[in-house]
Amino acid sequence: MAHKFDPAKLQKLDDPARLELFDPRKVFKDFGLKRGMKVLDVGTGAGFYLPFLSELVSQEGKVYGIDVQPLAVEYARKKADSLNLSNVEVLLSKECEIPLPDDTVDFVSMVFVFHELEDPVSFLQEVKRVCKPLAYVGIIDWKKEERDKGPPPEEVYSEWEVGLMLEEAGLKVGRMVEVGRYCFGAYAVVVKEEPKRFHSPIRVPPGLL
Ligand code: SAM
Repeated sequence: MAHKFDPAKLQKLDDPARLELFDPRKVFKDFGLKRGMKVLDVGTGAGFYLPFLSELVSQEGKVYGIDVQPLAVEYARKKADSLNLSNVEVLLSKECEIPLPDDTVDFVSMVFVFHELEDPVSFLQEVKRVCKPLAYVGIIDWKKEERDKGPPPEEVYSEWEVGLMLEEAGLKVGRMVEVGRYCFGAYAVVVKEEPKRFHSPIRVPPGLL
């Protein structure tokens, strides 16, 4: 586990054929992403999902892409600049240290990065710190099964393990869904203060209805 993506292969991450894995516009909307939101894209890599996140939040919103690998940050920054994504900022982060203040973002996207985290529970606690109360967290990763794409099953977590780690970190799991043929999605909500009546203040993302 925790095998980092080889930055020599960054260009492969920018292959439009990856759109066959899932439709980012539909999936991010289902996860609750809306116009005007501030988004954190964890492990942005080549910035493949940045144009979609940027479009969905519009100029009223903001997207922070972070990565621990300087080559990825450089690649994603160039991509954002070349596409004139003026609401996108790409930042170099540390393994378990996100370079943002507390209570900054409304939505966290974690696509194909969860299985690379060295300490997922501590990382999720750090995610919680930078999230506003009731922010949404959407995790997409490879299914833990034999596949003809992606890392081998022994290098990824099962949906169960991801759900348990989300709860251990103090996030509330909405549900697990299938995302295309190869991936699963985990919906979670950041609850900073336990509401008196738990069911009332949480706005359910459209994909959960
Ligand atoms: N999300 C992108 C995509 O799907 O196109 C990139 C996926 S790539 C497989 C995973 C990326 O996550 C790599 O660029 C890696 O450097 C980054 N990463 C791994 N651990 C990280 C961490 N703790 N914080 C931020 N980025 C991380």
